[in-house]
Amino acid sequence: MTDGLPMAVPAQGLPPRVRIHEVGARDGLQNEKTVVSTEVKAEFIHRLAESGLTTIEATSFVHPEWVPQLADAERLFPLLGDLGPKDGRDGRGGRGGEGVALPVLVPNARGLDRAMALGARRIAVFGSATESFAQANLNRTVDASLAMFAPVVARAREDGMHVRGYLSMCFGDPWEGPVPVHQVVRVAKALMDLGCHELSLGDTIGVATPGHVWTLLSELNEEGVPTDAIGVHFHDTYGQALSNTLAALQHGVTTVDASAGGLGGCPYAKSATGNLATEDLVWMLDGLGIETGVDLGRLTATSLWLAERLGRPSPSRTVRALAPDPAPSDKE
Ligand code: MG
Repeated sequence: MTDGLPMAVPAQGLPPRVRIHEVGARDGLQNEKTVVSTEVKAEFIHRLAESGLTTIEATSFVHPEWVPQLADAERLFPLLGDLGPKDGRDGRGGRGGEGVALPVLVPNARGLDRAMALGARRIAVFGSATESFAQANLNRTVDASLAMFAPVVARAREDGMHVRGYLSMCFGDPWEGPVPVHQVVRVAKALMDLGCHELSLGDTIGVATPGHVWTLLSELNEEGVPTDAIGVHFHDTYGQALSNTLAALQHGVTTVDASAGGLGGCPYAKSATGNLATEDLVWMLDGLGIETGVDLGRLTATSLWLAERLGRPSPSRTVRALAPDPAPSDKE
């Protein structure tokens, strides 16, 4: 490697294009201890957009006390107005007139009110496949959380918003161990029945392996959830995130979540290693000749820029491999 890009050698049976759902500014920062200023967040998101990312999850309208890092959603979102769709309505992504899609996490009706007041056009709700995580994260049962989401999704859809349903702990749970596939399928179907346009299957503690991924996707298809409504959200705790991504691509999935520079993780996972790094994903997709629209060099520079502000190196292998050698004076 000399020019910062892998040699592109396509493989059989993979999609020609993948949409990356960038989660660094929300899922990533939410799990970073160093609190980042609103201005740095806004610049980070602008730099992500300039790198070619077209779906950038911007923030979360959770109660400010739950996630202090994202307590500035009301100040941040208006700073992104130049990135969004130019007609102010549809936030389905793509560049030019359609702008960058800027989904926001909305935990409940109050969160939806706040997101709507700022003109957000895409929201995400955050469900759990397991009772333990539903209790830990949402303080209610799985079914009670679905009941809480129902009016949120309905109202968002009435307003023409795009709705994503996150589903956590799809493969393993830190309290319950392995999660049965049928249990995940039940909650996934319930989220689709509420009216979610898209699901994001989360391997929150990073324990999935490729056969498990393939089996879950097949079962979802059999139960009527189409592959084009499914995104995957892998964590690299055990080094499996890219293997699992490849399995999902072979199954036909074309939406992959990733976090620039590998920001964040899950506070409930033992290892500090968390989200699949967007750069690691783009390196593989570039190598497979799969189009993403992302400029790997610009994205890497963005993650290096943010790592300086966080005061720690990026955990992404690709970011570290592509980082310029420090100048001799830096070593003193
Ligand atoms: Mg994550």
